[in-house]
Amino acid sequence: MTEDKPKQTETPYEYSFEYIQKKLEGKKDSFGMLMKEIVRTGICTECATCAAVCPVLEWDELVGQPKLIGKCTGCGICYNQCPRTITDPYQLMGEFKTGYVANTNIPEVIGGQDGGTVTSLICYLFDEHLIDAAVVTMKDPNKPWYPVAQIITSKDDAIKSSGSIYSHSQTVEALMDAVREDFRSIAFVGTPCNIDAVSKMFDSPTGMLKYFMRCHVLKIGLFCMDSFAPEAIYPFFEKEGIDLSKVQKMDINKGKFHLYYDPQGEPIKSYTIRQLDKFKSSSCNFCTDLTAENADISVGSVGSGANKNTVFARSGIGTEIIEDAAEKGYLKVEPFNAINLNAVLFLAKLKKVSQYTARKRKVFIVRDAVKKEEPRIETKPEVEAPDVKPPLGARKFLSVSKSVNEEDKILNISLTNTIGFVLEDLKIRVVAVEELFEKSPWITTITEIFPYETIEIGYPLEIPDGEPINANVLVEASTEAFGKIFSRTLKITPKE
Ligand SMILES: Cc1cc2nc3c(=O)[nH]c(=O)nc-3n(C[C@H](O)[C@H](O)[C@H](O)COP(=O)(O)OP(=O)(O)OC[C@H]3O[C@@H](n4cnc5c(N)ncnc54)[C@H](O)[C@@H]3O)c2cc1C
Ligand code: SF4
Ligand code: SF4
Ligand code: SF4
Repeated sequence: MTEDKPKQTETPYEYSFEYIQKKLEGKKDSFGMLMKEIVRTGICTECATCAAVCPVLEWDELVGQPKLIGKCTGCGICYNQCPRTITDPYQLMGEFKTGYVANTNIPEVIGGQDGGTVTSLICYLFDEHLIDAAVVTMKDPNKPWYPVAQIITSKDDAIKSSGSIYSHSQTVEALMDAVREDFRSIAFVGTPCNIDAVSKMFDSPTGMLKYFMRCHVLKIGLFCMDSFAPEAIYPFFEKEGIDLSKVQKMDINKGKFHLYYDPQGEPIKSYTIRQLDKFKSSSCNFCTDLTAENADISVGSVGSGANKNTVFARSGIGTEIIEDAAEKGYLKVEPFNAINLNAVLFLAKLKKVSQYTARKRKVFIVRDAVKKEEPRIETKPEVEAPDVKPPLGARKFLSVSKSVNEEDKILNISLTNTIGFVLEDLKIRVVAVEELFEKSPWITTITEIFPYETIEIGYPLEIPDGEPINANVLVEASTEAFGKIFSRTLKITPKE
């Protein structure tokens, strides 16, 4: 018997289980992910497949979800059998003919957004007379960093249009202007949602562009995780002391948003994406396409390292264009296996699973700490919650998490309805506890909180300047129907 064969003590089933465990080694899928993405978001179908395949999982009938009864190895088998998870690479990134890591060979384009691949492709297309116009997005000369979609007809303008603006751009309006101006062959650069609009206009039975057969559009899609509302995020940056007219580059990298006065230097300011979450365009919470799955050519930065691009050639013409642009010296390309595909898949999955949180309308209840305004929280006289016992025993109604904004001394409390049905007239009480005494109670009533909806409360911590952030904050919640459903003291200690 060779070492590869099952050991005598193992059943064939145990052998298969171990075999799949080995196959999944190194992946980040696990029981924790299954709980986070599928069970706690409320999209679990209660099929119990996860419990059926794993020896340390059983089906908890009371709670209606899988339960660990032993040590989880984190192998991810449960995650990979669940009918609700998305694990197939083509489902995550769309279909493509081939992929490359690419960057520009044109000296004026070096130092653009990432590898300058998009700009280089447009330069190549103009030089080769393959297009007579391109639709790109540039900065509004009158409003710093506001996007304006433009029709361009020269290589020089293509070079001026390089760089990313992380806001919705009305690119399709510019495309329709180009069509009306009778441009016949147009390169169109857009985010996945822009690309989807153009694809629909060409492909759907009632699509506007279906009947414009004299017009050909090459769709160059940008990878896209989020965009931000300029009317909300730019005033925030200005309040933070950033002079937008001096900003030369904005960049999102490894979960951080960076702003640069000098694109070659260090960022003037960096924020985590979580810090900027409240400025995110609401549409992006419902978006599931990271890699512009309907484009001819998709270009992004994740998966390719600094100053390079990850490129997917999806259509025949897209592939020919990349190959020819490389052959003619516009681009340097490395083959498909140079892409860090796991990084792309990881981000693509984060985006796909956002559809599961589509009902998680985030409500931000914030206090303007800078202007020292009164909190914008609806206050009502304190009413004692009725003494009714929760009828659902062990089932949790709410999950609560916290984060501290140390600069403004605000405790951000996220409250998520985990019960799976709408809670009505939810009374929330937040109060600081100092030894035996309560201080600064905040009370609010939420008329209805939907399943898996999250309410965010910004509770100001009254900590004197220079003192470490140390506090105990009691969070209580009750409803008319179920009485007190949550009570926990959150301990806030200084960061190590
Ligand atoms: C809103 C947004 C979010 C993004 N998020 C990610 C991400 O999460 N991960 C990732 O890997 N890449 C993301 N990208 C893509 C990345 O920023 C680069 O655009 C991409 O890597 C191409 O780099 P490049 O060096 O070839 O670009 P360049 O050669 O500099 O060309 C950039 C092109 O993008 C166009 N453009 C700029 N802003 C917009 C806009 N708002 N809408 C439409 N077109 C625009 C410009 O006109 C130019 O043609 C995002 C881009 C945008 C616009
Ligand atoms: S396999 Fe997925 S859908 Fe089925 S019970 Fe487990 S978590 Fe729920
Ligand atoms: S040991 Fe079981 S519960 Fe843990 S990840 Fe593997 S299959 Fe899932
Ligand atoms: S996240 Fe989606 S909706 Fe938002 S800008 Fe990107 S592609 Fe468009």
